[in-house]
Amino acid sequence: MFFDLICPDCGCITEVVQSADELDEVVGCQNPDCQAPMTRRRNRLWSGNNIAMHGNCTGGGGSCQWAGYYDPVLGTEINGKEHRRDLMKAKNLEEYYTDPDVDKHTDELKYIRSHSHLGDAEANAEADKCVKAAANVQRKKNIDAVFDRAPVD
Ligand SMILES: [Zn+2]
Repeated sequence: MFFDLICPDCGCITEVVQSADELDEVVGCQNPDCQAPMTRRRNRLWSGNNIAMHGNCTGGGGSCQWAGYYDPVLGTEINGKEHRRDLMKAKNLEEYYTDPDVDKHTDELKYIRSHSHLGDAEANAEADKCVKAAANVQRKKNIDAVFDRAPVD
C-alpha cells in the first residue's frame, strides 16, 4: 500500500510502500538535505489533500525534489519548478500556499516534533492535535472558497 509521510523537520512529503504491519518501520525523508527519520505511526499525512500537498514546501533551506515527479493535478510529469509554473499558468491554475491560520498549527507541530523524541507519547498526542487542527482549518477554508466561487443569483 502507498502511504504519504510528512517530514517533521522540513515538511516534505515522502511516499512509501509498506504493508499494514510496518507502522514503525523507520523511513528517511526524501529531501537529500534533510533525511530525517520518520515512521508511519508518527508521521503519516492523514489529510493528504490538505497540508503542504501542493505548492510551496515549508522549512528554511530544505529543497524539495521538483524535478521528475508526476503531478496528478496537472496530469503530467514535472521537470522543475519553472515547468510546473508554466503548466499551471497555461491551465489558469493558482499555486496553493499555506496560509497563516494553517501555519500556526503546522509551526506548532514542527516545534513539537523537533523538541521531542520518537517514543514520546505525550508529544505525539499533541502533535496529532496540531495535524488535525491544521487540517480542520484548511478544510473549512476550502469549503468557504467553494462557496465564494459559487454563482450568486
Ligand atoms: Zn525532511
